[in-house]
Amino acid sequence: MEHPIYHALLFGPPGAGKSTQAEYLMQHWNLAAISTGKLLREQIAAGTPIGLRVREVLARGELVDDALMIEILRAWLAAISPDNGFLLDGFPRTIPQAQALDEILAELHRPLSAVIDLRLSVSEAVHRLGGRRICYGNGPDEIIHINDEAAIARCLERGGLLVQRPDDLPNVIVKRLAVYEAETEPLINYYRARGIAHRVDASGERAQVAARILSAVEGIDHPPPVW
Ligand code: AMP
Repeated sequence: MEHPIYHALLFGPPGAGKSTQAEYLMQHWNLAAISTGKLLREQIAAGTPIGLRVREVLARGELVDDALMIEILRAWLAAISPDNGFLLDGFPRTIPQAQALDEILAELHRPLSAVIDLRLSVSEAVHRLGGRRICYGNGPDEIIHINDEAAIARCLERGGLLVQRPDDLPNVIVKRLAVYEAETEPLINYYRARGIAHRVDASGERAQVAARILSAVEGIDHPPPVW
């Protein structure tokens, strides 16, 4: 099906399922997508100069400085073909980042068309993050919850390794949720005034959440997709 070219942002507290939904939306809407958190974790794993610079910041659950993040985004956005839409997962996180994004997109003549605001209660976010593990190795990385015995068995069968993100430890989870509330949540008002923000309930199954996002942004009812 043909879709408009979306220029979209994905907001939500840690644990809201941003990267899971970003992966789905990217395919469904034919978008280039970037997760700034994932990009930083890859830099850390590869031991690059950027990785060394930000490792401690991520481990504390704090935000990386605006200048570095803006530089990374500027280069990434400039490289996207005009035929592709885009989805930003994890950027902007602060008002200066949002202002810089406006300037970059104005230069590129690519105004924002949708802001997806995933909502999740603090207790649900803590439950999801505290139990979150990543299955690494022998295939694509998979996010798994420790209560999901079938998924754990599948991971071990394929020779995968279950790993906990260092910033999913309890004291860092609390810090990340507090940073989101203080620094990032106010941004939603910044976009709400433009009439392009869509509030979406992020509780429940991932397919249900995807259906809510599609219905909100496209303005037509969608059943949950087969995942
Ligand atoms: P996430 O995977 O989105 O939860 O991001 C993980 C961590 O990466 C965050 O806790 C921050 O330390 C860092 N990070 C990701 N995106 C940004 C950003 N736009 N600005 C500052 N720090 C970021």
